[in-house]
Amino acid sequence: MNKKKNSVYKESGKKQRYRSEKQYGKQHSAKGSRTDGKSKGKHTANDVRQRSRKTITAKVTCSGLTNDGKGIAQWEGKQLEVAHLMPGETAEVNVSTRGRYVNTELKRVINPSKDRVKPSCPYFYECGGCQLQHMNEQAQMRFKQETIDTLMKPFGNPEAILIMDHPYDYRNKSHTTFGLNKQRQVIGGLYAQNTHRIIPMERCQIHDPNADEIGQTIKGMMKSFKMQPYNEDTGRGFLRHVLIKVGKVSGEIMVVLVVASPVFKGSNNFVKALRKAHPEISTILLNVNNRDTSMVLGNQEKVLFGKGTITDTLCGLKFDISAKSFYQINPVQTEKLYAKAIEMAELTGNETVVDAYCGIGTIGLIASQKAGKVIGVELNKDAVRDAIHNSKRNGVKNARFYQGDAGEFMVKMAARGEKADVVIMDPPRSGSDEAFLSSVVKLQPKRVVYVSCNPVTQARDLKYLVKNGYAVEGIQPVDMFPQTVHVEAVTKLVLKV
Ligand code: SAH
Repeated sequence: MNKKKNSVYKESGKKQRYRSEKQYGKQHSAKGSRTDGKSKGKHTANDVRQRSRKTITAKVTCSGLTNDGKGIAQWEGKQLEVAHLMPGETAEVNVSTRGRYVNTELKRVINPSKDRVKPSCPYFYECGGCQLQHMNEQAQMRFKQETIDTLMKPFGNPEAILIMDHPYDYRNKSHTTFGLNKQRQVIGGLYAQNTHRIIPMERCQIHDPNADEIGQTIKGMMKSFKMQPYNEDTGRGFLRHVLIKVGKVSGEIMVVLVVASPVFKGSNNFVKALRKAHPEISTILLNVNNRDTSMVLGNQEKVLFGKGTITDTLCGLKFDISAKSFYQINPVQTEKLYAKAIEMAELTGNETVVDAYCGIGTIGLIASQKAGKVIGVELNKDAVRDAIHNSKRNGVKNARFYQGDAGEFMVKMAARGEKADVVIMDPPRSGSDEAFLSSVVKLQPKRVVYVSCNPVTQARDLKYLVKNGYAVEGIQPVDMFPQTVHVEAVTKLVLKV
């Protein structure tokens, strides 16, 4: 069975190599990466001989951090990346080489950094969902600021990162996965890093506490309701995950039972019992995912209780959110991010604004209050349906939402000779594409506001826009994902005259 990577924190970013090889040289890094950066190829006899694993304990000193928060150290002409090693620290590191692969494991820190702290989460080293809990808050912020400063250097000086006062309990969306332990008792928790091994965990410190409690209640109910946890290896069993979304302002809660088959005997009694234990639950859905996939949700969905969506308030507007729609996972910081994005858009009431990659329409609907007209585009059908509904429920008359690929949509807009004064774009981690960016250049909006959860792809796209007539006028990083390496940034570009 292939061990898939931890899919728990999908929206805050698939685990990616942030580091561009050009910038830092060759990959000699974290588990399983190749030193030559090449993909799989034919193996020579020499490769096969080299493949027997060698582990050596090396004494190394950390000179800095990679974009994914690992300590950089030079060793025997190689650049090692060591998880949880901090700048200035000397440490013993187990270095295993197998062919071209180099794995590292921090064994002992000889001179701990003054910024090193004991992670408050007992699962930190196993889980991998957070990567920075071994650093105090100042060191975390310094790391994020430096990451942004370095990547944005060609474009200007970023502002100081907007931090979160209470950088825990912030996620409004969480998953619990279920399985059996050796004693065949049901366990529930998160996957250990890069595996599908469940760490039994009652509480994740960045989840909403109420959501974790509901997850544990469900775990406790499974035996009496004869719900077997799904086993990925055998394809047997029923309950795969529970996805919980919380409206942090409204207090509304959605529980999605992700199951392997649509037949759920005793569902009425289950719903009754769960609601009795947690009267705060607003809606319960059944989602059927019978595929061998690391995607959490399947396509089939059935509402077992309530309206099937939850509502939350953001920047003074009300938003309905479906199970499958994207909604920013840290609403406290999202309000700061959106406020900055709207400020950068410099709206006066007359502008035509494109909200590209609009999700459920949040940014566009907030902007609509200060714009002439808003055009939103989004790929996910459920999200577009939510955006249209959200437009109505907030009495917005000047916004239209379209389903489709943002690049294709913009190409058509440009071909039709339509006009846009401001483009606000918020693409997924992979960033935008040339179809989109070249159409922006054709449409010639006066301002482009680029919101991104991946500064590497953002920097790549900014380069294109800067080459084609735009100047960067402001860069604001926001800590949307405290304790993790992820960092969000919003950038203002203006058309040079
Ligand atoms: N602006 C929204 C959503 C940002 S997340 C918010 O702040 O909530 C990025 C969104 O881009 C997701 O909703 C995703 O479904 C959408 N998306 C991904 N690829 C896309 C594409 N090629 N064209 C349009 N939308 C896309």
